[in-house]
Amino acid sequence: MAEHFSLMIHGGAGALEHIRREGSEAGFMQSLKVILQDGRQLLEKGGTALDAVEYCAARLEDDPLYNAGRGSVLNEYGEVEMDAAIMDGQDLAAGAVAAITSIKNPIALARCVLDQSEHVMLIGKGAKEFAKLCNLPAMPDDYFVVESRVRQWREAQKTGGMMLDHEDAGPQRKLGTIGAVARDLKGNLAAATSTGGIVNKRWGRVGDSPIIGAGVFADNQTCAVSATGYGEQFQRTVLSKMIADFVYFKQMTAQEAATAGIEYLVEKVNGLGGVIVIDRQGYCAVGHSTSGMIYGWIERSGELCCKLA
Ligand code: ASP
Repeated sequence: MAEHFSLMIHGGAGALEHIRREGSEAGFMQSLKVILQDGRQLLEKGGTALDAVEYCAARLEDDPLYNAGRGSVLNEYGEVEMDAAIMDGQDLAAGAVAAITSIKNPIALARCVLDQSEHVMLIGKGAKEFAKLCNLPAMPDDYFVVESRVRQWREAQKTGGMMLDHEDAGPQRKLGTIGAVARDLKGNLAAATSTGGIVNKRWGRVGDSPIIGAGVFADNQTCAVSATGYGEQFQRTVLSKMIADFVYFKQMTAQEAATAGIEYLVEKVNGLGGVIVIDRQGYCAVGHSTSGMIYGWIERSGELCCKLA
């Protein structure tokens, strides 16, 4: 058994000045801290990295502060459609769901796809039917919709634009896509990402979060990655896999690979977003091209740290 574990979670990337202005920074820090504390307990007891990332992602989904599960952003019709994925670095097993509604925890459904289906991704109505088979709780539409999201959506509708949750901060922007990466005591890596997508997105649009290699990736030989930002840019650069490739082919550390990945994202597609990374030694890293990112970590069983950077 390895003697230490690592855990990292994020709550999205973007322009975060509004959070400081509104004084809601403490709320985010407290939320990250409590989830990391509970994640620590799970991993300390010998829980798997896969269980830890699912657990943390579900807790972040339940918190309306973030753009995932309850509190998801709204699409062009003012509806919530969610994407999520989870990956096990041990054997590259993965599960993903896209454009789903009603399911309380999309990440739990992604985990069911991984564990109980022969597929990697299920979408829309088929995914919902599968959720019933897995006995996952569904919620009414209004469970997911919070008032700040409706204001944010109305703003976006006025200009006809789409935007990142945290982008171009108006007073209503204070939430974000979520993700978790972990290394357990046995040295296994896992990653999870979950989102409502981008504000005012086209109906049926699927972002990077549920795409293995784009918004999420984990391989015990390299690292675990969860991404946030403009999904189309992460899809086109296959950024999470790119970061793992930097580790695999160039022997980069987690931090070097996160930095190189974000440089690549900017150079290739002028991309906006961020990543959290844990490598196989348990080192934690972050990189972002947005002015801010919300995240927290426990590196190699050490101190719990949270940052709104
Ligand atoms: N990556 C997400 C998407 O494009 C959005 C985000 O990270 O905020 O769906």
